Amino acid sequence: MALRVPISFEFYPPKTDEQRVQLDRTAARLKAHDPEYVSCTFGAGGSTLSYTPETIQRLREHHGLPSAPHVSCMGGTREELRQLLKLYRALDCKRIVALRGDLPSGMARMGDFRYASELVEFIRTEHDGWFHIDVGCYPEMHPQADDAFADLRHFKAKADAGADGAITQYFYNADAYFRFVDDVRRMGVTLPIVPGIMPISNFSQLRRFSDACGAEIPRWITKRMLAYGDDAESIRSFAAEFVADMCSRLVHGGAPALHFYTLNLSKPTLNVIEHLT
Ligand code: FAD
Repeated sequence: MALRVPISFEFYPPKTDEQRVQLDRTAARLKAHDPEYVSCTFGAGGSTLSYTPETIQRLREHHGLPSAPHVSCMGGTREELRQLLKLYRALDCKRIVALRGDLPSGMARMGDFRYASELVEFIRTEHDGWFHIDVGCYPEMHPQADDAFADLRHFKAKADAGADGAITQYFYNADAYFRFVDDVRRMGVTLPIVPGIMPISNFSQLRRFSDACGAEIPRWITKRMLAYGDDAESIRSFAAEFVADMCSRLVHGGAPALHFYTLNLSKPTLNVIEHLT
């Protein structure tokens, strides 16, 4: 492995003791790769509200990892978010991933903020300079955006509201990332844009998830994965090589860092890291 950029790892908050043990094992293994920080997601519509701070605390205290909570404003009131930010500040978090989030189907509660740009502005107003604020972005377009240009303008609004950096939705097409970066640079956005990397473990689950979040799996990859059938070893090694090749291309093309979506598993991410050149 010859990495030239900082890396970070994303986890989700465990809810059971078994999941906590798995996170501990994964965090310990990945810590060996010296991440710049790790982040912990926030459940849709606030459903895991109480688990994210607990996990952040666990990652900091048990593992000594600088940890960044994801904060989503969908479904939360101004006062609830104020209290949550206070809590993270008290836990000495210096970094936050600020998102709109998604309401789970059937949940009608709207919060005080409609878009992530409003949350970024709120964090800036309440805690200017304390938190490094990262936001999400979508090289293949957010699925609910009116069109690709509107999505670019809405991304710029988050930068203008005070975001310090951005992490992309995962993608398997490096050109989409490069084009997105070129487009927003032309619009005057200068913040670092870090590719979000999804190592491939469970391919059928990934296909379902990708349909929902607007990430495209190129046809040739799908065909190749399907052709491997039950040959798990070939799937593992092809997926790791392909994702590592894409990471190398991204880094050589100027990506400032890599953010790995781990799904709380160490092996798929480690397989990619080991193939990086
Ligand atoms: P926004 O930036 O607010 O954009 C949402 C949509 O609204 C886009 O289509 C945008 O074009 C549009 N829009 C924005 N502003 C306007 C405007 N003024 N007028 C009209 N349209 C507008 N979800 C979770 O629930 N928990 C997590 O922890 C989590 N972590 C994530 C981490 C990363 C790095 C990424 C990329 C996504 C993550 N998500 C998470 C998913 C994210 O919450 C969803 O993709 C959500 O639908 C959009 O969030 P956002 O912050 O990008 O929203």
